[in-house]
Parts: sequence; structure tokens; C-alpha cells
Amino acid sequence: MSEINSFTIAQQQLDEAAAILGLDPATHALLREPMRELTVNIPVRMDDGSMHVFKGYRVQYNDARGPGKGGVRWHPDETLDTIRALAAWMTWKTAVVDIPLGGSTGGVICNPKELSPTEQERLARGYIRAIWRILGENADVPAPDVYTNPQIMAWMMDEYSVIRGYNAPGIVTGKPIAVGGSAGRNEATALGAMYVTREAAKMLELDLQGATAAIQGYGSVGRYTHKMAQEVLGLKVVAVSDSQGGIYNPAGLDYNAVLRHKRETGSVTDMPNTTALSNEALLEMDVTVLFPAALEGVITERNAANIKAKICAELANGPTTPEADRILEADRILHERGVYVLPDFLCNAGGVTVSYFEQVQNAYGFYWSLELVQQRLDAKMTAAFHAVHRMVKAKRGVHNRLAAYLVAVERVAEAAKLRGWI
Ligand code: NAD
Repeated sequence: MSEINSFTIAQQQLDEAAAILGLDPATHALLREPMRELTVNIPVRMDDGSMHVFKGYRVQYNDARGPGKGGVRWHPDETLDTIRALAAWMTWKTAVVDIPLGGSTGGVICNPKELSPTEQERLARGYIRAIWRILGENADVPAPDVYTNPQIMAWMMDEYSVIRGYNAPGIVTGKPIAVGGSAGRNEATALGAMYVTREAAKMLELDLQGATAAIQGYGSVGRYTHKMAQEVLGLKVVAVSDSQGGIYNPAGLDYNAVLRHKRETGSVTDMPNTTALSNEALLEMDVTVLFPAALEGVITERNAANIKAKICAELANGPTTPEADRILEADRILHERGVYVLPDFLCNAGGVTVSYFEQVQNAYGFYWSLELVQQRLDAKMTAAFHAVHRMVKAKRGVHNRLAAYLVAVERVAEAAKLRGWI
């Protein structure tokens, strides 16, 4: 997906945490690699009658704390290493928010923009036929990620149910509400980030009401981030972008207007009364909160020193490279208050947390109100923020990402030990 190998980064981050925790070599080795991975080739009949074979993956990284959980990406540049990295981060994410699940991720190399809805349906069903043997409500439960959505989840759930011969709503999360989805799932990732951003701002004594924000990416996560930043934190979103480029208005961009423009034209770019700006320039804007919500590897050693936001709330997975982290960390130490990074697997854990709530509701066949979902999400995210913050203090000022790793890795290692794996 980029020149930077995300899995190497994920492993380096674990290595650093393992050294501080003093993990024994066997536990470290176990947590450094996926438990199981499956590569599949999926034949799909295209609308013109031809057959096309797509390559797909499912990586089950670690399930010591509970059944695997993680998204399915559809992207033309997907690689097995990206999936491995995402599966590792899912393992740390479920642990840091303390939900009883492990970490998995899947993906298919394809360009969904070039697939008709019927081709997408056949691909979704084909993917499930290829990997269903390693799935299960108590084994591994997929969810949406880049370029997959609730409709695709509904097809996947249906295909699994057809294969098994019973209704299996809990096999996939992120489904539409009509087929067992949870209230609040669509905006959960963005909303969870608002709760941890709120806690960070309290600690930094920053007033977010009317303060500025910029958002990179305007997909499922990015657009709800715009909505929630306005509604929940009272932030003024001055810049947003998607793969075509970005737009800026110092007076603020209205969520409904940008969404309408994107729906009508396919992109946020060229919206009336806005100035064009590049994705690179957006990241370097002088705003209070920066929300990277697109792809990995966008904050690197080339631009880290130019990041001016007070809080960088990482909604995307892996947006900051380790080199960039070191620059941001040096900045934090040298200048009294540098960029306060809310690391990806803490900041974007709201999605998986409500996915877990969805699994619980599916298991009981009893559904919660939106208010209850949001209350429980707030409680989980706030507790996770403070667990990480306590670790920062306990380890005398390690940076937030490392502290989040320490919390998560310690919990996964404890479960693996108790199960007698190592
Ligand atoms: P999505 O496919 O809905 O949206 C991706 C967005 O990124 C689109 O607006 C696209 O135009 C934009 N984009 C693509 N390439 C870009 C580029 N080079 N520069 C700027 N923008 C670009 O995906 P999503 O579900 O919103 O996921 C976004 C990120 O959040 C990913 O890193 C994903 O792993 C992460 N994430 C998603 C969820 C979830 O619940 N969907 C949960 C946690 C983390």
C-alpha cells in the first residue's frame, strides 16, 4: 500500500514494548508473528460473463484473549504484510480497550470502484466460501474496513448463514441494523476518537469549543469524524480531504454541505467557497486537532517536524511511521508541549468496541438503544485512555504509543501464559 512495510513497523513497535516489559523470548516470539494465515484465490463471474480470480487473505494474529476480530479491506494495493500489520494492531486494540477478543484482519486485492454492485456481491460471497472454515462466532468475526461497507457485511453474513444452514448474525459485524447491526456502529470509530480526544484535551487544559480541526480522508471514518467533531466536541473543521485532494475554509466546513457535495460529485474537491489544498498541506496545518483518517504511512520523517496540531488523533491505522514518532517525541521533550499523539489502536478502537457490543447483542438476540451503546462506548474509551495515561506516568514519560503497547502487550501475554501457551 506504500513503500513502508507496515508489518515491519508493527514488529518494531512490539520489540520496543517487549524490551521494556522484559518479555521472555518465547512470549516475544509468539507475539511477533501471526498465529495462522490463509491465502485464497476467489473466482468471480463478472457482469460481462468473463471469470476473474481475486486474491484474498485472512490473518488470525492472536486469540489468547478471545475470538479473532478484525476488518476486511478491499484495495488494489493490498498486501499480505499490510494485513498482518492490521491483524497485529487489532490484537493490541482489543486488549487496550479491554474487550474479550483477539485480533485478525482480512483483505482482497481488488479495486471496488471498478466493480458493479452485483460483482461486489459475488466477490463478498466468494470470499466467505473461501475462508468460512476458519471463521465462527467463537473463532473469528470479520468487520468492515477500507472500501467495505455494511451492505458487503450483510452479503457475507448471508453467505455464511447459507453454508451453515442457520441464521448466523454474529459471524460478521458492521451489518445494517435490519439484519442484526448495532445502533451507533457506523459512527462508532469516530465517536470513540472524540471521547479520547476530550480526555486528552482536559489533561492538556485545551478548550476544544470553537477550536480548529483538519481531517484527512472522507470515507466511513473521515466523514463521521467531521460530524462528531462538530457535534460532540464543538470543533470547527476547517479542512478535509479524500484521495482526490483537499479543501479549506477558515470559517469552517459544514458537514452536511460537504457530504452533499461528495455524494453529488464523488469527491470533496472543488466545493464552492473553499480553497483547494493538497493532502500533504492538510497534515501540516496549524489546527488544534489533526485527524488522519485515510491510510497508513502519511506522517513520516519528511513531514513530522512540520506537524503543528496540538493533538494528533490517529483514526487511520498506522498513519505515523516510527521515524516520525521519534521526531514527534523529541519535539515533545525539547519543546514543552509538542504534538500530543493519540495512537491509532487506542484512538480508533471505538469501531471494534461497538462491533463487540454488536456480537453481544447478536448472541442474546436482544438489542440496545443508541444511548446505551454510546454510554458504554464512552466508558470503555475513557477507561482505555486513562489506563494508557497511567502507564505513561508509571514508566516515567514513555510516549503514548509505547504506553498503549505496554498496556496491551502485557494483557495479551498474561492471557497466553494463563492458557499455558508459553
Ligand atoms: P474508507 O474506504 O471508507 O475511506 C477511505 C478514505 O480515504 C476515502 O475517503 C478515500 O478517498 C481516502 N483516501 C484514500 N487514499 C487517500 C490518500 N492517498 N490521501 C487522502 N485520502 C485518501 O475507509 P475507512 O473505513 O474510513 O478507513 C479509514 C482508515 O481508518 C483506515 O486506515 C482504516 O484501517 C481505519 N479504521 C477504520 C475503521 C472502521 O470502522 N471503518 C475502524 C478503525 C480504523
